[in-house]
Amino acid sequence: MELPFAESWKIKMVEPIRKSTRAEREQWIKEAHYNVFQLKAEQVYIDCITDSGTGAMSDRQWAAMMMGDESYAGASSFFRLKETITRITGFNYVVPTHQGRAAENVLFSYLIKPGDVVPGNSHFDTTKGHIESRKAFAIDCTIDEAKDTQLEIPFKGNVSPEKLEKTLIENKGKVPFIVVTITNNTAGGQPVSMQNLREVRAIADKYGIPVLFDSARFAENAYFIKTREEGYADKTIKEIVKEMFELADGMTMSSKKDGLVNMGGFIATRREDWYEGAKRFCIPFEGYLTYGGMNGRDMDALAVGLDENTEFDNLETRIKQVEYLAQKLDLYGIPYQRPAGGHAIFVDASKILTNVPKEEFPAQTLTVELYLEAGIRGCEIGYILADRDPVTRENRFNGLDLLRLAIPRRVYTNNHMDVIAAALKNVFDRREQITHGVKIVWEAELMRHFTVQLEPVK
Ligand SMILES: *Cc1c(COP(=O)(O)O)cnc(C)c1O
Repeated sequence: MELPFAESWKIKMVEPIRKSTRAEREQWIKEAHYNVFQLKAEQVYIDCITDSGTGAMSDRQWAAMMMGDESYAGASSFFRLKETITRITGFNYVVPTHQGRAAENVLFSYLIKPGDVVPGNSHFDTTKGHIESRKAFAIDCTIDEAKDTQLEIPFKGNVSPEKLEKTLIENKGKVPFIVVTITNNTAGGQPVSMQNLREVRAIADKYGIPVLFDSARFAENAYFIKTREEGYADKTIKEIVKEMFELADGMTMSSKKDGLVNMGGFIATRREDWYEGAKRFCIPFEGYLTYGGMNGRDMDALAVGLDENTEFDNLETRIKQVEYLAQKLDLYGIPYQRPAGGHAIFVDASKILTNVPKEEFPAQTLTVELYLEAGIRGCEIGYILADRDPVTRENRFNGLDLLRLAIPRRVYTNNHMDVIAAALKNVFDRREQITHGVKIVWEAELMRHFTVQLEPVK
């Protein structure tokens, strides 16, 4: 008989987790103002709030940490990291930062002026925040198909070439760069095809505009190109990654995702002007150029993590686990953004809590219900995350309203996936009885989802 699929690693160290009672959870979520970001981690049984910085490092990464050089300037850890990034991406200028948004802050401080327009595919929340806080505009040029959660196409994260070109024509002289997010997190962890990256490059070249890849999950994107796009089945992940980055001028990176570390980020580019511009802001915001907010040991762990996660086996183990959870949800008929993305399942709350009006935030309501059901913490990627329109200050209800279950890398087993699926099924079975959502009682102006305070609508 054919042998089943199994993980490409075994476990060397464990961390106990604990279940709670429903009564405890009712109290805790109330104290947290119905915002799961305000819960304590110990109040959570299975934590799927994010795959960011929550992964388990390998024995090789922990060993590399012992080699960390903590010199303020010129640390050998930096040069090991830089060599790895250049080898994997082809970019020879590297600026470390303490995480991905810091890379955005440093680079955008140089690149973006008030009134600028930055087109992209479903800008990530911090990316949008760093554009809008500079009084510039993030224009979403994602393909329309991404909005139909039930449509099954291989590269749902793609940029629409028509929308992109239209944006460039309408905003001549105001576009400092195009940002392509790989994979497209906000649209459901959906990949962007090599073909699409080539189309974006061609349009960018036609109008003389540089291209930045927001690269948090570039390795997962390469896995999908290998397994879904014609002509790539026989290429290695590292070959595909190289080919992807040849189509960009530079990248911002949250190393907390595909870097397999708990903290870190960087900017990498082939453009000397971007590097010189970023340097000026790195020093006051992040630190000197050979550490940029990172410990030497953490740069060493990141170098090894980037190497490990651009190998097929590691990516296959991860993405197959996400697929496993998706198959369970299929069994129960629970709708989610199809096909399953690389790092998470995005449950389509608006199709489940049909009795909760959009003004009462269905995806946030579902997030709270799942926590109450079994202590599982997902997070809302929907109307609260979308923030208000910077001009009208109205809530933005034009996107998707999803509950994201992000799967940390190399942390949970498929037994945990079974528990998540069963808990969600229990909520799904009583969906008709859920008729009220939540209302906002306090919110921040930007990136409100982290600190928003809510109350159940009675
Ligand atoms: C996480 C993420 C960021 C921001 O990175 P942080 O390390 O969380 O600051 C930016 N873009 C994308 C696509 C991300 O997933």
